[in-house]
Amino acid sequence: MEKVIGIDLGTTNSCVAIVENGVPTVIPNRGGYKTTPSMVAVTEAGKRLVGHIAKRQAITNAENTVYAAKRLIGRKWNSPQVKNAVATSSYRIVEGPHADVRIVLREKEYGVPEISAMVLQEMKVIAEDYLGEGVTKAVITVPAYFNDNQRQATKDAGEIAGLDVIRIINEPTSAALSYGFGKNVEKTIAVYDFGGGTFDISILEIGSSAVFKVIATAGDTFLGGEDVDARIIDWLVQGFKEEHAIDLRQDRMALQRLKDAAEKAKCELSSVRETEVNLPFIISSGRNEALHLQRTIDRKTLEELSADLIERTIDICKQTLADAHLEKEDIEEVVLVGGMTRMPRIQQAVADFFEREPCKGVHPDESVALGAGIQGSALTDDKQEMV
Ligand code: AMP
Repeated sequence: MEKVIGIDLGTTNSCVAIVENGVPTVIPNRGGYKTTPSMVAVTEAGKRLVGHIAKRQAITNAENTVYAAKRLIGRKWNSPQVKNAVATSSYRIVEGPHADVRIVLREKEYGVPEISAMVLQEMKVIAEDYLGEGVTKAVITVPAYFNDNQRQATKDAGEIAGLDVIRIINEPTSAALSYGFGKNVEKTIAVYDFGGGTFDISILEIGSSAVFKVIATAGDTFLGGEDVDARIIDWLVQGFKEEHAIDLRQDRMALQRLKDAAEKAKCELSSVRETEVNLPFIISSGRNEALHLQRTIDRKTLEELSADLIERTIDICKQTLADAHLEKEDIEEVVLVGGMTRMPRIQQAVADFFEREPCKGVHPDESVALGAGIQGSALTDDKQEMV
């Protein structure tokens, strides 16, 4: 029987999974990474880049590199989210026919589903390389708050990528499927999802009857790990300015290196207490002399720099519980999703708020894709049904 792949088409990263011999498995890409940046670029020579290679050149080719296209998919030109993206994105976003959104890369206009299709196609190829056969069927996940237009546009993206999208499912439901897989439990759970570009909190009921219901969901589409990276960049830029009276932001190459280094330091600080940011030859002093950036950052500094961002996620959790007419005690399990939930301070803030330790058994980067893979396999196996 043909395999159905599950794709987590994320704002910052995407991930693809299947069920193999009854075991949900994430498929690594050619570089060995289990997630692939949801980025698309066109080089000066007209070459199309997707994933890690697009990310690596993002700042030096900023106008022709698309990131976070998911914030635009299925939205109209005059929506506040599109206005916000137009004001803050380094690539050009223009109005197309019927108030559609178009993205311009090297003078050519693309619809948002076309851009997302390039990412989906990359995920399809990753699965095909691994399986050694063609793949046509997929389950794709979307945020629970996505409306019909956004869901349809995601489906269209799948079709452009050559995929038959047999089901669109909600990301928190997908994470819950992965959490509940093989457990046969009935519970009210919260899925706290802090990714690279967005934050979501959802409250779900999961049942042994295989019915998963989203009771409430909320979030912020402009709050994510990138904002934490930006705080570290500010801190580094400021320190460098005080020492050398030079603004590193003026130099694109320096900024790309700072961005990569800031994210790397942030990730390292999830497992070590301090780390060194070391960027030799970051810029010239203007007197024919190269300057180096070398600075130690510790976990406490990172926590101070990001405290208000973490607090914002907790405020949204509070509001969502109130909307669901639930108390903290009603939540029987908290599942952490999204790469940012590896940060110890975030785990602590969630544990403090819900007054319980979050569940450790679910992989933060992989659970959404795994749930989609589980759903895909259930849909092709008539002994199982999940609603
Ligand atoms: P996602 O959108 O779920 O793929 O999450 C990506 C975000 O998680 C990015 O901002 C990453 O920098 C961040 N991230 C990944 N690993 C870690 C880590 N070990 N500690 C802190 N943040 C991380």
